[in-house]
This record gives sequence, C-alpha cells and structure tokens, in this order.
Amino acid sequence: MAKQKPIQSIKGMHDILPADQPYWQFVYKKFSNLVGEYGFEKIDTPLIESSSLFLRSVGDDTDIVSKEMYSFKSRGGEELALRPENTASVVRAYIEHGMSVWPHPVKLWYWGPMFRHDQPQAGRYRQFHQAGVEIFGDEHPASDAEAMFVALGFLEGIGLKNLMLRINSIGCPNCRPSYIKALKEYFKNRGKNLCPTCKIRQKTNILRVLDCKELSCKEILKDIPQFVDYLDESCRDHFKKVIEFLDEVKAPYSLDPLLVRGLDYYTQTVFEISLEENTVATEGVESVSTPGLTLIAGGRYNGLVELLGGSKTPAVGWAAGIERIILELKRAQVKMPEMRPAAKIFLAQLGDLGKRKSLVLFEEFRRAGIIAGISLGRDSIKAQLRIANRLKVRLALILGQKEALDGTVILREMDSGIQEVIPVEGIVEVVKKRLRS
Ligand code: ATP
Ligand code: MG
Repeated sequence: MAKQKPIQSIKGMHDILPADQPYWQFVYKKFSNLVGEYGFEKIDTPLIESSSLFLRSVGDDTDIVSKEMYSFKSRGGEELALRPENTASVVRAYIEHGMSVWPHPVKLWYWGPMFRHDQPQAGRYRQFHQAGVEIFGDEHPASDAEAMFVALGFLEGIGLKNLMLRINSIGCPNCRPSYIKALKEYFKNRGKNLCPTCKIRQKTNILRVLDCKELSCKEILKDIPQFVDYLDESCRDHFKKVIEFLDEVKAPYSLDPLLVRGLDYYTQTVFEISLEENTVATEGVESVSTPGLTLIAGGRYNGLVELLGGSKTPAVGWAAGIERIILELKRAQVKMPEMRPAAKIFLAQLGDLGKRKSLVLFEEFRRAGIIAGISLGRDSIKAQLRIANRLKVRLALILGQKEALDGTVILREMDSGIQEVIPVEGIVEVVKKRLRS
C-alpha cells in the first residue's frame, strides 16, 4: 500500500502535550482553589449553543460574532455556533435554571475551550481556553472590586509579577448618549483620517473606534474626550467607589480612557490585566512601561440578563486567557511542581512469569501507598536498574525466573548495591519498614 499522507491538526488548534500538562494542572488547581475560597461555584455549559445567543448578547457588529464565530447548521437545520466566549452561556443557564430565586449574589466560575476564527499568532489561537468568574445580583461597587481582587490574586498566586490593571467606566444607557455625542463631535473634522474599519465603526458603533490598534487611529485618539467626564451621577459615584476599593488594597491600577472592551453588553466598569512590558530606556528617553498581551478582561454587564430574557439583574465578571497565562509563566520561568507522584521503589523482572508477578506486586504496593517504577518492556536487568538509578529510588525488587518460581524476590539497596533474597509473602510490610528507616 502506498504510504498515506499524515493528517495534520487544523490551523489555530493545538495539542497540549505531556510536557505542558504540569502548567495546565498547576493553573487549574490554583484557580479552582482560589475561586472556591472566594465562594464561587463551578458551572459547565455546552460547547455548542444557538447562534442567536451570541448574536443577541455579544452583538452582530463585534469582531467575535461578525468575523470570528464558528457557525454552522445542524442536521436538523438549527443555526448553531461553537461558543466564542462563555458569559452569554452562563447567563443563559442562569435564566434557564431559575437562579434568580437562589440566594444572591450567585457566584459562578468556569473553565473550558472557546472557539474563534482569529488570525493565529503567539497568544492567539482558534481553540483556546478561558477561565472566568461571574457574580450575579450585586450592583455594589464592592462586587466590581471583588472580581478584580480575585483576578489579581489569581495571577499573583501562580507567580506572575508586574501586574498592570487598567480600568475605565463606559457608563450606562443613561449617560452613554452624551458621550457618544461628544465623540461624534470630536471625529467631525478628524474622521477622514481614520482607518477604513473605523470609518464604518464611526457610524455603527463609534465606541469601538477607541479600541482600534491602527497607528493612524491611535494618533487621532490622543486628545479624545474621556468617558469619566460624561458619566451621570450614579455612574460617577460607582466608579469613584470602585477606585476607593482599589486604593484601599493598593492594587496596581491605572485609569485608561481608551479601554472600552469589544463586547456589547458591558456597562460601567471595564478592566483588563496584563503584565508590564518595560521598553528599555535609550539615551535621553525615559524607559516606559507598556501593557503586554491582555491576560484577563472583564467588567460589569448590568443589562445582559434582561437582554437575554431574564429579569433585570446586575452582574460583573471576567475571563482569563489560559494559553497566554501559560506563555507568561514560561517566560517568567516559574517552576512547576512535579505532577507525577515520585516512585519510591523500582520493580525489575525477567521473563513472562516475572512480568506477571511484578504487575501484581505493583498493584499491591500502589494500594499500600507506595508508587513503584516499572519497565515491563525491557528484559535486561542491567537496563532496568539504570532506570531505577535515574528515578533515584532507594530500593529495587528484582524478580528473576528462579525467584518468580520459588516465591522469593531480590531486595537491592540501590546506594550500596547490597542484595538479599526474601519471601514475596509480606514484602510490602518489609519494604515499608525499610523506607521508614
Ligand atoms: P483581543 O483584543 O486580544 O482580541 P478580546 O477582546 O477578543 O481580546 P476577550 O473576548 O475579552 O478578548 O477575551 C478575554 C481573554 O481571552 C483575552 O484577554 C485573552 O487573554 C483571551 N483570548 C481572547 N481571544 C483569544 C485567542 N484567540 N487566543 C487565545 N486567547 C484569547
Ligand atoms: Mg479578539
């Protein structure tokens, strides 16, 4: 038969190989422990939802929905999508399961893969993982602050340093119109120099212009009116209180008037966390700190539950990009804890009978809480003892043909090389004692 061409993984999709698993386990454990301590409960939602869920919540003129969503028709003709983010799904579940009658606040966390037809590059994939939290039913600024503390605590707790929290307020439907009016005024004469996408955004969703990464647009955005100057009284008061909380704990925050978030459903507080990237000072120019890739993004979304058919419920939450966080952990050379329990002894064997008996012994030791190294594929005792050496175990048990037949085993002290023959019967207790001494 002609050699088959191997099938490759799809662009933007990744295998997570064993060497990377310690990072994934470490981050998952730290995250789930932390949010558990803060009183969050886990929710899993399906990877597939109705497209309309995201059209209605995220908005059909966002990048996520208009350009990046994996949508398809099911065999039954339903319009479906692989979830591009999870807040909409959690809100759907909140409404569907009647959580509005649960004691509030309802605090949920999630972890799982998301799908976006993004342009793959470092820290940007088409299947990626997000971990996140959502707090429902609390409109107090303390709730915004709690969400941000958890986010900062998460990144700090896994060993990342130089965190940079940027925050802004994008008001509410009551004050947003006056800001949008000010923006329109501002772009009246400058609009012709905006990038083609922003020229369209200027008409469809002018707030998004603030988010533009094009240099030409950034230049125009320099003297833009700031939302904080247009907030109504309650939004201004809310924002002030959020900041007071951050001051209280000396959080590393800065106000970022250009921060608006790409999703439609945000109200009031929006924030992003990244690591500071220091641009090295060149002669005569001071070194500047710029934010690296965004690791965590979130904010308040008081209108979303209602928008998706529930009753009016204030809410705040965020999502973290796990692949990006792991990239940063590697860059910062944060050491991962050993994932596999270390082997305490090694089982070496010769021949079929030896192998069979070794497997039984392996299980006996495992039940007694002693992990054994074993290499059943190898027949040379010498090669097996080399592995035992590498595993740095104190004892090796050798089951040769003779021992396997007469119910004994050779117990070898690895350091001294001293060996003795002892009965298999009761071997677990003998080994336990030796390991203790
Ligand atoms: P960006 O402006 O970088 O595209 P976004 O606004 O689309 O970000 P959110 O929807 O707020 O991002 O998602 C929250 C977090 O999820 C991001 O801060 C990032 O860490 C992560 N994330 C988003 N898209 C991707 C992706 N394609 N690949 C990997 N991580 C991603
Ligand atoms: Mg994006």
